[in-house]
Amino acid sequence: METLRTDVVVVGLGAFGSATLWRLAARGADVVGIERQAVGHAFGSSHGTTRLFRIACMEHPGLPPIAQKSLELWNTLGADTGQVLVEQTGSLNAGPPGSVPVVGTREAAAAAGIPVVELDHAELVARQPQYAGLGPDDVGVWDPGAGICYPEPIVQSQVAAARRLGAQVFEHTFVTSVEIERDGVLVRTPTVEIRAQQVVVAAGAWLGKLVPGLPLAPRRTPLYWFQPRDPASAEFTLERFPSFIWQRPTGAGFWGHGSGDGFGVKLGLEYDGRVAGTPVQDADEVDRYIHPRDDVEEIAAAVSEGFPGLDPVPVKLMPCMVTDSPDGQFLIGRPDDGGRLVVAGGDSGHGFKHAGGLGELLAQLTLGEKTYCDTAFLDPRRYAN
Ligand SMILES: Cc1cc2nc3c(=O)[nH]c(=O)nc-3n(C[C@H](O)[C@H](O)[C@H](O)COP(=O)(O)OP(=O)(O)OC[C@H]3O[C@@H](n4cnc5c(N)ncnc54)[C@H](O)[C@@H]3O)c2cc1C
Repeated sequence: METLRTDVVVVGLGAFGSATLWRLAARGADVVGIERQAVGHAFGSSHGTTRLFRIACMEHPGLPPIAQKSLELWNTLGADTGQVLVEQTGSLNAGPPGSVPVVGTREAAAAAGIPVVELDHAELVARQPQYAGLGPDDVGVWDPGAGICYPEPIVQSQVAAARRLGAQVFEHTFVTSVEIERDGVLVRTPTVEIRAQQVVVAAGAWLGKLVPGLPLAPRRTPLYWFQPRDPASAEFTLERFPSFIWQRPTGAGFWGHGSGDGFGVKLGLEYDGRVAGTPVQDADEVDRYIHPRDDVEEIAAAVSEGFPGLDPVPVKLMPCMVTDSPDGQFLIGRPDDGGRLVVAGGDSGHGFKHAGGLGELLAQLTLGEKTYCDTAFLDPRRYAN
């Protein structure tokens, strides 16, 4: 079997791995990327045409600089390749005055100096007539720099950029083991072995299989698209129904956005800030079928209550996966002191927008550079304390 030698191997070329490969190659590192599927595939966590892109991230005040770095990198990548990868059409964070979307967004914006617009209840109602059942005190925080981004072109463009910078990429190549040795790492696949100084494992829902012992829990979380009851209505276009997170006064919250060129109205549910989904014991055995009753009943009931202008039966569904960490933040960095292994995962359902910025951090951590922002809250060793 062929044995390759390189500085760094990146295992898994979804959102996090493709960004890491690109940012390592941009630094002149000798780097090899391995992906078990075709780049840009629909079997992991990074498919489905769009993702919400927020900068004033309610999940943690340490996140805005990472989203800002993604924006900077993806705008440059888009300009270099003639694409728009992020649409800054704004985003609404709505709910009761003390809810996480409202308070968390406001706090993250204040900490990062991001201008947001406060909407009182009357302004919220006037602005979003599509929302039914707003609580009597519900308010909104409008984040004008937010919007949506396009996952498949981003992943593919990151890998293409890495290739142009000299990275070697193996698609349809399954990594069977990552072995940490005294003087390097050995990454095995059925067709090629790679010896490297370091490995970055960015295997999404499969990360725990390649690096056992990490506190990760994958879940199956379908993506859903809807259409207005009146097909001629413009009420649910992205312009009129911009990307949003709405914590309803009772029950599940909604996230989603309106339709645009090449995509429909997308909606999902979340509970306590976590995207709704069901646990997956083994990501290789995730249920990839759509179940017209079990996958639809809950969201259809919520949509008929929350957005009566939409047909509550989704027009399209696709399975997807999130991989939760215990505190809902990513695992980015070295899980041990050996200096050979870096992990990137635990996306917890809000990772795509950060992928570009995380790739930059992961390249810096791998090569021992000073990072452009604090990473302690993402350190995989934080649970040991
Ligand atoms: C329903 C849903 C909605 C979401 N909404 C948003 C949103 O609006 N905004 C947002 O920012 N984020 C959102 N997310 C989260 C975001 O999509 C994820 O954070 C992100 O895609 C995670 O990327 P990843 O690189 O960790 O995983 P993946 O993209 O799955 O990448 C892992 C890769 O590793 C490969 N791999 C695994 N094992 C091996 C192996 N043994 N050998 C070789 N390759 C291997 C896989 O094939 C895969 O390509 C959402 C996620 C879901 C599921």
